[in-house]
Amino acid sequence: MKNQIYQIIESELKTKVDYVRSIGGGCINDAEIISDEKGNSYFLKKNLYSPSDMFFKEANGLNELRKANVIRVPAPILVNEKFLLMEYIRSSSKSKNFDENFGRAFAHLHKFTTNHFGFYEDNYIGSTPQKNISNDEEKNDWTKFYWNNRIMFQFRLLEKAGYADDRMRKLIRNIEDHIDEILAGSENIPSLLHGDLWSGNYIIDDNGEACLIDPAVYYGNREADLAMTKLFGGFSSTFYKSYQEEFPLPVGYEYRENIYKLYHVMNHLNLFGGGYYSQTISLLSFYQR
Ligand code: ADP
Repeated sequence: MKNQIYQIIESELKTKVDYVRSIGGGCINDAEIISDEKGNSYFLKKNLYSPSDMFFKEANGLNELRKANVIRVPAPILVNEKFLLMEYIRSSSKSKNFDENFGRAFAHLHKFTTNHFGFYEDNYIGSTPQKNISNDEEKNDWTKFYWNNRIMFQFRLLEKAGYADDRMRKLIRNIEDHIDEILAGSENIPSLLHGDLWSGNYIIDDNGEACLIDPAVYYGNREADLAMTKLFGGFSSTFYKSYQEEFPLPVGYEYRENIYKLYHVMNHLNLFGGGYYSQTISLLSFYQR
């Protein structure tokens, strides 16, 4: 299969692969830098075992982010069930104004909006399916979209996997009863979201600026994207200050932040188990009345 991938690349790009350097795995896939006889370099992600549509969804997400044209995103070049070939981003060290520029660019990304919540296709958050296609009510109402397609979707997976005990069920039911109050004061604007922005999902390009990779794109409330950046840390106070200057958040974001972290923590519990159970319980407990 390995050779077959290079053969496809060579025939599609009408070139010869000269040199391949493995850079090991990301969280999910194997990665390589490929150079061809014309002196071009490409970044190749491959996975012989991933769901067949995973790379197509990633390529579509990258293309959607590129539409906003406010922050660097590698261009997908070839996509197939087993691999995604994209523009290779040469890296360097951070520019002097890296954090400020990144915060501002992220705010500009969120100013890229559409009419409905969701996306034209479902995709993945990590390797978990992420539901973006929704009914008319959810398309127009962020609270309904978020509750049904994010929290309840993950909760059902937790039930199937046997993580949802009585304590968790009770906490979830209580939040369901209060979700309108919890999200009261939120904007109802579908912004373009990266969907999975933690410090491992941006790289630094040769201009010293941020480049987004590995998205779980959809149109949603921008607070969901910001909360994800807070989950594992790695974004500076300058980043948030410049975001806020460019596109101030509505009052109450700090209170709502945990409900947005919850989606990702539930997903981590589904994917990795272990300590994410107690983190899920603690985020759920935050909103108990
Ligand atoms: P995974 O989906 O397996 O988590 P990633 O997309 O995160 O893989 O990529 C793994 C690593 O490869 C990243 O952490 C980054 O260092 C590097 N990388 C990803 N995309 C590119 C690219 N287009 N150009 C150069 N390096 C990249």
